[in-house]
Amino acid sequence: MKITGIRTMTADVPLEEPVITAIHDVRSIGYVLVFVDTDAEVTGEGHLFSISAKHMEPLETMTAGLGRSLVGEDAHRVEGLWHKLWGEVNFFGHKGVSLFALSALDMALWDARGKALGQPVHRLLGSCRDAVPAYNSGGLWLSRSQDELIAEAKEFLKQGFRAMKMRLGKPSWREDVERAEAVRDAVGPDIRLMADANQGLDVRHALRLGRALEPVGLDWFEEPVPAYDVAGHAALAAALDTPIATGETEYARYGFRPLIEAKAADVLMPDLGRVGGVTEFMRVGHMAQAWDLPVSPHLYSEPSLQLCGALQNCDMLEYMPWSAPLFRERIEFEDGMARIPDRPGLGFTVDPDALETFRTAPAAGAAAKPAPKRPARRTAAKKDETAAAKTEAKAKPRTRTTAKAEPKPEKQAAAKAAPEPAPKPARRRKREPGRTPWYLRRGSGDA
Ligand SMILES: [Mg+2]
Repeated sequence: MKITGIRTMTADVPLEEPVITAIHDVRSIGYVLVFVDTDAEVTGEGHLFSISAKHMEPLETMTAGLGRSLVGEDAHRVEGLWHKLWGEVNFFGHKGVSLFALSALDMALWDARGKALGQPVHRLLGSCRDAVPAYNSGGLWLSRSQDELIAEAKEFLKQGFRAMKMRLGKPSWREDVERAEAVRDAVGPDIRLMADANQGLDVRHALRLGRALEPVGLDWFEEPVPAYDVAGHAALAAALDTPIATGETEYARYGFRPLIEAKAADVLMPDLGRVGGVTEFMRVGHMAQAWDLPVSPHLYSEPSLQLCGALQNCDMLEYMPWSAPLFRERIEFEDGMARIPDRPGLGFTVDPDALETFRTAPAAGAAAKPAPKRPARRTAAKKDETAAAKTEAKAKPRTRTTAKAEPKPEKQAAAKAAPEPAPKPARRRKREPGRTPWYLRRGSGDA
């Protein structure tokens, strides 16, 4: 299945209401959509998101640029192509924009592969379940009043969810505790409740808050301190009974390995768009299995379902409704469980009508141009030919032909009739004795 082209587009999907967390104020979600065209009449689709549309231009440019390396390759060789792209981004580093781009392309390759084989990706990866518990993450924001929190938590229960996540990060840790207690009272002891501080606290604050939250029975305390503070996460994981969850801003398995080694996380949260796509998500999931750690995907609810269906240690799906308007298909829920789609590929395809509505102008550098043609390289045969010609030339005696060809009679006559040519003037002007040459004169270099 030969890859015939890569196309990228951007979209900006406004949120129904702003999202406020300890460190975010989000009004719309920006997307880069990538389409991998093949000669097998299937197109693989992948996407990236960002909480700001202005991030889309560098992401799209990198994705389109990196994608050029895939044109002409066999889309079934996902593992090999992943390593090819990993090598390509070495110059930029294996983090940041380069890993986002790699992730989107890898997602699209798995989607193409599944579509070509008529199989959902979770089956290609080794399926383990048909449905996964899902928690509703699309609410219980920091901006909600306590009454609004309670009403929303009850609404989630009505929708069938048996798990949900609230946010922490009020200036007073006591207020966070009161809010968590209120939600717990509203939903009862059997509902799984998680809380996310979105990296907004320092270790002392998080420790005090975490200790006070122990009776609430949280399933996990997520990103209590900045993601880069591995030691801080480890200190909290050691001090608290409540599991610590982190990892959503890590890149590749090399970002997760230090978290595991430092015992900084009880739950790992790979993000499909950062970690390196489906291929690398699976590696992180398997690495976590070696430490009996659960994983729970960060956002990317639709495509992450395939990973939930393929990893035995996948705990829960994070359900966020942000991306739903972009796709033709919807996640199906039953008794708080999200069904793993059995449609070929990742199971969600971009809705052309949605594209009409949400598509934004392409980035200046993102046009999926073909790679510039290099000058034709000399083939081995051509090289041999040239080398043979050189050898032959060397072997010949270097005889300079002094005998000129016999002039033609008419030219001879004309030459005789022509007057003798005037002598050519001497090319070099003689230096007048005593005169300093121009190049030795002072200031001769001044114009
Ligand atoms: Mg989070």
